Amino acid sequence: MDSYNVILDDVMIDNIFKTDTHEALDLVSIKLFLYLLLLGVLPAIWIIRLPITYPSFKKSILSRVLTIGVALLIIVITILSLGNFYASFLRENKSLRYYANPSYYIYNIGKYIGHHFQNNALPFTFIGLDAQHTVGDSERELVVLIVGETARADHFSLNGYHKKTNPSLEQQNIINFTNVWSCGTSTAISVPCMFALGGRSDFKASKAKASENLLDVLQRAGVNVLWLDNNSSSKSAAERVEHQSYKTADNNPECDTECRDTGMLTRIPSYIENHPNGDIFIVLHQMGNHGPAYYKRYPPSFERFTPACKTNQLEQCSQEEINNAYDNAILYTDFFLSKTINLLKKYDSSYEAALVYVSDHGESLGEKGLYLHGLPYMLAPDSQKHVPMLMWFGDSFDKNEVNIEQLKQQRHQKYSHDNLFHTILGLFEVKTEVYNPALDIIPHND
Ligand SMILES: [Zn+2]
Repeated sequence: MDSYNVILDDVMIDNIFKTDTHEALDLVSIKLFLYLLLLGVLPAIWIIRLPITYPSFKKSILSRVLTIGVALLIIVITILSLGNFYASFLRENKSLRYYANPSYYIYNIGKYIGHHFQNNALPFTFIGLDAQHTVGDSERELVVLIVGETARADHFSLNGYHKKTNPSLEQQNIINFTNVWSCGTSTAISVPCMFALGGRSDFKASKAKASENLLDVLQRAGVNVLWLDNNSSSKSAAERVEHQSYKTADNNPECDTECRDTGMLTRIPSYIENHPNGDIFIVLHQMGNHGPAYYKRYPPSFERFTPACKTNQLEQCSQEEINNAYDNAILYTDFFLSKTINLLKKYDSSYEAALVYVSDHGESLGEKGLYLHGLPYMLAPDSQKHVPMLMWFGDSFDKNEVNIEQLKQQRHQKYSHDNLFHTILGLFEVKTEVYNPALDIIPHND
């Protein structure tokens, strides 16, 4: 909380349980050890060694009554003299309670445990049982969805950022959406929410875990679904489809100091070859810009903006150094997305190929003393919620199926993660009762 200005609410407690060693180690620093040692371990040792003398029962009752009495008196006097001030102050600064230690995180651990047990009792929900592929569509679709990590829209030069962070994508024939908003401010919320039916207003992580999602509906309609993960996990979104981790060199052939997002692309050709029938939907879950160690998120050759912050203790770096490290990681995502498009172009003659990219949430980079992400949605600044999104369509995509010219005109309209579920169903021409054409971004002519 002191270093990154985060809040330990129930979502953050959930993040703690869903993280992995690799992610957690990015947060460990000497400062953290000093904090624990000086403010935790040493005082604890001092207290353990204090001799305690217990007074008589009567005496201890009396001293407690006295302490409680005096405390109550002070409370009453304060309320009587300053009550008006506190009433309006607390009403106008509701977020204050988020920062109360240790009560707020203890309260939220309790809340999390409560949810956890409630979740286990939830019955599993099936959705889109009627899902079918449209009859008569002989073209095979090949769609890659890239789920980005921690990329903020305003750091894409495609969206007008002053540093050239999208040199590769600017050369591609893409449609860039400038006004897209995330479902949550953390991976644990946004990723399952993107694939869930109800959208943001209806979303609960426990409910999503106990329900089918977009991937299940596509699979039921006969689409071959594959999830490759270079992030912590699919947050249970891909539990019932084929999925594979690319976090280690076991599967990922492109690992240096860490395994790179580009390594996931090596699997695509063989997967396509091994699935000679039906449409193909591949989700690539990126490591992207996962903080705070942005400088680890790109190979050295992508260090184009310098000097870059080379520590996870962001408050030690200047704003410029933090931005440089973060922007170099965006540059690497730009390269990765463009490389994926180039790979898809090879299949353009035999498939209706498309790519959709959207980030899971944004990031605070030190503005107003805030770092990282995960603030409660109402409280979070736009930088944590305004995300980049873009689409690419191969030349052989049926122009009646997808009206690209009209789609281009819609690129400044306001969209959110809520649109993804229906947009992907529409792209695969899956007929089902859960498809809502009003939320499908893509205009279809037939
Ligand atoms: Zn994330």
